[in-house]
Amino acid sequence: MIDPEILGYEFSTYLKVIAEFTENELIPAENEMVEAGAVPTRIVDRMAALGLFAISIPRVYGGLEWTMEQQVQLTFEFTRASCVYRSRFSTVIGLCSQAILDHGTEDQRRALLPAMAAGELVTAFALTEESAGSDAARVRTTADRKGDVYFLDGSKRYITNAGWADAFVVFARTDETAPGADGVSAFIVDATSPGVRTVLPAIMNGHAEAPVGEIYFDGVEVPAHNLLGGVEGTGLTMALRGINHARLHVAATCVGQATRMLEETTAHVSGRTQFGAPLSDLGAVRATLGASFAEMEAGRALVVESARAFDQGVIPRHRIAAAKLYSSEMASRVADRCVQLLGGEGIVGPHPVPRMWRDVRALRVYEGSSPIHERNLAKAMIKQVGVDGTLPDSYRV
Ligand SMILES: Cc1cc2nc3c(=O)[nH]c(=O)nc-3n(C[C@H](O)[C@H](O)[C@H](O)COP(=O)(O)OP(=O)(O)OC[C@H]3O[C@@H](n4cnc5c(N)ncnc54)[C@H](O)[C@@H]3O)c2cc1C
Repeated sequence: MIDPEILGYEFSTYLKVIAEFTENELIPAENEMVEAGAVPTRIVDRMAALGLFAISIPRVYGGLEWTMEQQVQLTFEFTRASCVYRSRFSTVIGLCSQAILDHGTEDQRRALLPAMAAGELVTAFALTEESAGSDAARVRTTADRKGDVYFLDGSKRYITNAGWADAFVVFARTDETAPGADGVSAFIVDATSPGVRTVLPAIMNGHAEAPVGEIYFDGVEVPAHNLLGGVEGTGLTMALRGINHARLHVAATCVGQATRMLEETTAHVSGRTQFGAPLSDLGAVRATLGASFAEMEAGRALVVESARAFDQGVIPRHRIAAAKLYSSEMASRVADRCVQLLGGEGIVGPHPVPRMWRDVRALRVYEGSSPIHERNLAKAMIKQVGVDGTLPDSYRV
């Protein structure tokens, strides 16, 4: 439950609370989290009490309703700590709540969003399958309607929070004759339903403390009123709004991670003496730090600008894709340089930077892999120039 005092805060006060929480609680608990192999329960409870599950959900549904620009400012702060913490509430604030908000019925919103905002109903977004990765329209999980019940059969993989979610937003094919996306619908599925089974992987390369999971559906009965929005065949359209929201959060996460890695690395090279002077006196080291800082700030500017446009009402999906593509590549580049500047400490021992280096690698794979964003941006550019000679989400007046 959100601490009632939090609900009365102005944004500037709330931002300060989250910055202090990051510095005083999240960052100091990172080693404990790594040793335990999971985010400590007391930290999840604190995240819920501080409203981190609620930042994007409207007040009328029990959330904090910060603007997109405010949400990315918050993300810059709390992702100075391990991005594993964020993944515990990311599916609630991004993919799931936004799909329910924009496309759910009013009954579905009232039934789900207040508990999600309070951190009491954790939801996972179950789209990816063995046959449907980058090509998301190739969903094979089926939902057959018999009377007032759908029967779900199939499986999902790589699903964030699958292991502890209370409910899933599941994308399944309701019409096997309709091609691609047209036959796919979205359902709210209780994770405790008979026939649901989740399996966590034995090995994670990065994000080890918040493993993704597989979900199996074996004749799972889903009441017809759990069809999201009450309409069949619009599942992937519903996924898109949530995905745009989540992509901007991921882009902001990359900037937060780069910030922490550069803080840690600058402190390291300033304190480490070789050749009779701090490493930070070397021109090559300074060039690496300066270039990394500039790239991080370019990512931040792209994220903030996209968030402002988002708040004006028309979702700038190409700019959001560009922000996600650039920032995730930037975070990996910065991480790699930081590991280099740490020398042996970047490879041996518990320094946070190499852990973050492993974690940020995944950000180039999910919410659209980098090659998919490059391909889709190029397609949109070629199409728009063919129509009126401008670029998509153009700044031209
Ligand atoms: C940590 C993590 C969390 C995730 N969380 C979720 C979640 O909560 N819910 C969910 O539904 N899914 C989730 N995913 C799945 C993620 O969305 C997919 O991994 C992603 O869409 C890529 O699909 P794939 O893994 O099947 O790779 P593939 O589709 O097999 O692609 C592999 C690679 O091939 C290249 N490629 C593919 N297609 C093209 C193309 N057309 N042009 C150029 N290159 C191409 C890209 O480099 C791509 O990375 C998560 C994944 C990870 C790693």
